Amino acid sequence: MAQFDLVILGGGSGGYACALRAAQLGKTVALIESGKLGGTCLHRGCIPTKALLHSGEIADSAREASTFGVNAQFLSMDMVAVNAYKDGVINKLHKGLQGLVKSRNITFVEGHGRLVSKDTVEVNGERYTGTNVVLATGSYAKSLPGLEIDGVRVMTSDHATNLNYVPKSVIVLGGGVIGCEFASVWKSFGAEVTIIEGLSHLVALEDESSSKQLERAYRKRGINFELGVRFKSHTVTADGVIVELEDGKTFSADVLLVAVGRGPVSANLGYEEQGVTMDRGYVLVDDKCRTNVPGIWAVGDLIPTLQLAHVGFGEGILVAEEICGLNPRPINYDGVPRVTYSEPEVASVGLTTAQAKERGHDVVELNYDLAGNGKAQILRTAGSIKLVSQKNGPVLGIHMVGARVGELLAEAQLIFNWEASAADVAPLIHAHPTLSEAMGEAHMALAGKPLHAHG
Ligand SMILES: Cc1cc2nc3c(=O)[nH]c(=O)nc-3n(C[C@H](O)[C@H](O)[C@H](O)COP(=O)(O)OP(=O)(O)OC[C@H]3O[C@@H](n4cnc5c(N)ncnc54)[C@H](O)[C@@H]3O)c2cc1C
Repeated sequence: MAQFDLVILGGGSGGYACALRAAQLGKTVALIESGKLGGTCLHRGCIPTKALLHSGEIADSAREASTFGVNAQFLSMDMVAVNAYKDGVINKLHKGLQGLVKSRNITFVEGHGRLVSKDTVEVNGERYTGTNVVLATGSYAKSLPGLEIDGVRVMTSDHATNLNYVPKSVIVLGGGVIGCEFASVWKSFGAEVTIIEGLSHLVALEDESSSKQLERAYRKRGINFELGVRFKSHTVTADGVIVELEDGKTFSADVLLVAVGRGPVSANLGYEEQGVTMDRGYVLVDDKCRTNVPGIWAVGDLIPTLQLAHVGFGEGILVAEEICGLNPRPINYDGVPRVTYSEPEVASVGLTTAQAKERGHDVVELNYDLAGNGKAQILRTAGSIKLVSQKNGPVLGIHMVGARVGELLAEAQLIFNWEASAADVAPLIHAHPTLSEAMGEAHMALAGKPLHAHG
């Protein structure tokens, strides 16, 4: 039996971040992974989808080239080449990560692990015992009852990231982040896209103003969507799939992408048997990611916090530092930046207007339209930056829509997390012409001294 300071089950964003930080702090670490080091984010999530979105952006640029005075033509997508580009990015990052784990003397164990006692994980008949055990087994793409995934006509994001052709038409079931990103990719690649969303808006967790702007932009791009109506049934035919909704409407397409959320990977892994408290498959933790069982921790998509890679990183680091006695501050989940990397992008940090009001804040809002921003005009992107602020107090939320606005989150999250007020930000000079100027302008306007604004 091998003995470690930490035994980490799952080598995705949460697990490997914990391993790297703990090893950096001098701990002995075993990292157990049944698939590939890097997990969902690197192999089936963040990285492949962003590569596909980038190919889509280039396709759109080719289509629109003449508006910028460039003679170019969009001919078609070469999915073999797209996948080679995407896989090249993944492989390079995967190799880098493997090297990093090796360089920190982490014991990487390949195989399916199971918690067999409160401090031991068994893999391929071998036992790995840890003073601490960190559960980081991540999540899987969910489906709906009766909606069987065949990976051909009815697929999840796992299949969609590796498609070797562009479907002529796609139905995307679910208008959350993953659904909207794939809708954007496929539209750019030339497919007819229809999104079906049971809630009343696309990216419904965002501020309503951002959802409405995304919907406007998608309408303009010719991405169809049905909101506030639920899926009823589907039929796979010889050449596609037919979807019926509860309101009686039917849609047909080459493929159906099921993007209805992700559930925790926790079944049959011994968690319950060892007394770990769970809720609907999620492992419950306190604000330092401790489970109810002393010495067992859990991070990432397995716990009911935001399902984002950088949240997994943050939780993994938190656990490593807590174990090493550094007493890190708990994560403020309101301060986690969120991006939907569609065209246009939707990015936010902090509270929506509705949340701020629910929490009893005296709210003031400011909308800065990107129409007034030089760089936005150069890029020909529409959108806005919306500030939600406490009256005469700190900024409580920043909500953005437009091309590349995800890059503005770096500043937005500093503003939110340092509890800056509009008056604190207004004097900071932003480089011209950048999209970030819009951040400065929005705060200037909220501080009562708008520059490029009418009235
Ligand atoms: C299509 C898509 C796009 C996404 N885009 C983004 C994005 O742009 N930005 C962002 O921040 N997030 C994004 N995410 C979310 C992000 O991928 C996840 O939040 C992140 O991967 C969670 O990390 P994790 O470590 O908790 O889980 P995972 O990355 O799922 O890692 C868990 C690992 O545990 C392993 N494992 C499971 N069970 C066992 C076992 N019994 N034994 C051994 N190993 C096991 C799995 O093989 C897996 O590698 C996206 C997700 C998807 C699906």
